[in-house]
Amino acid sequence: MEQMILAKCGEIVLKGLNRSHFDQILLKNIKASLKGLGAFDIRLAQSTIYIQTLENADMNEAYERIKRVFGLAAVCKAYMCEKSMESITALARECLADTLEEFNTFKVEAKRSDKRFPLKSPEICSEVGGVLLEQFPHLRVDVHNPEVTVTVEVRDFGAYIHAVREPGAGGMPYSSNGSAALLLSGGIDSPVAGYMMAKRGVKLTGIHFFSPPYTGERAKQKVLELASIMRNYCPGMKVAVVHFTEAQEAIRDNCKEEFFTVIMRRMMMRVAQQIAYKRHCGALITGESLGQVASQTMDALHLTDSVTEALILRPLIGMDKEEIVKISRKIGTFETSIQPYEDCCTVFTPKHPRTKPTLRDILKEEANLDIEGLVERCMERIEMEE
Ligand code: ATP
Ligand code: MG
Repeated sequence: MEQMILAKCGEIVLKGLNRSHFDQILLKNIKASLKGLGAFDIRLAQSTIYIQTLENADMNEAYERIKRVFGLAAVCKAYMCEKSMESITALARECLADTLEEFNTFKVEAKRSDKRFPLKSPEICSEVGGVLLEQFPHLRVDVHNPEVTVTVEVRDFGAYIHAVREPGAGGMPYSSNGSAALLLSGGIDSPVAGYMMAKRGVKLTGIHFFSPPYTGERAKQKVLELASIMRNYCPGMKVAVVHFTEAQEAIRDNCKEEFFTVIMRRMMMRVAQQIAYKRHCGALITGESLGQVASQTMDALHLTDSVTEALILRPLIGMDKEEIVKISRKIGTFETSIQPYEDCCTVFTPKHPRTKPTLRDILKEEANLDIEGLVERCMERIEMEE
């Protein structure tokens, strides 16, 4: 009894002439996700991807990994046999035993793309249904509202049976929609923001600002750990770690305290824009949500934006903290995010930040800084973490 995995393509099925471009990226990503598990045969036919092990791989592990690949609407474990009713019914008896234990009603659906197969779809259904009723006496057929649907597919290259489908990761294939730089702090929000854009097919590079000795090695390690969890969804994501101490000290020593945060965020944006440009990223991504803190009011966000010409994506802008936390738990970053290490944003935070700073206020303060020099020196001290 040979086990395999079937994966249904998601939104890319709506693509027109450029469909094959997205298909190819999706297939490449599936292949990459299975790295280390052995060789697989992966083929795409009629918006379904058939994944078969060639060397007895751990198919449960393969299944878990494929569930995280963006661009798939549904996944299921399936079993394969040769194209004869004898083999198909034998397989149905054997492979569905565990699954059907859990249900009371079922129906059988058949898809016959090999038109040379002697039985037509309704005949396949009734024969397999009969065999299952005999084998599992607790089951009843319910064609309108079954608890589980058993699907039999007769394709050119073999016959398959599968029962329980699970939702796939959804979205668009990772790396099919351009690249962007994610401003990654150690908090809850930014990993979620990155996940949301990765789900839309955006390839990510992380940027993390740290300020030793005000922020410690553990704080940096925490961010790298977040990045490594994110790699489950964003394979190969790198993180540029930027030394931000000098810039922060310059702001502390030369600017009015009530404007620290906005000036610091503008400084981050200047540096982030240059990194993005160097790495051919088409946008910056942040984890900001409107009104969450003083630096995320509409006025403050506008001031942050006005320092760069880059496109800034803020996928969490309209989300509540609770909604963000829910996603953070789902993607596995929450427990790491809540570890209590300081972020450079919490160094020198003003006691009473201005919620409505004006551009004039900010420019006046920034005139006291050697902005070009500070940005340049940030750019000189970047560590790329793989
Ligand atoms: P998070 O939970 O992601 O830390 P937050 O609600 O704490 O977000 P802020 O600290 O104001 O919000 O930061 C807003 C956004 O700015 C973050 O979501 C992130 O994109 C970016 N950011 C903040 N601190 C850093 C940092 N040290 N390095 C890189 N980006 C950062
Ligand atoms: Mg933060």
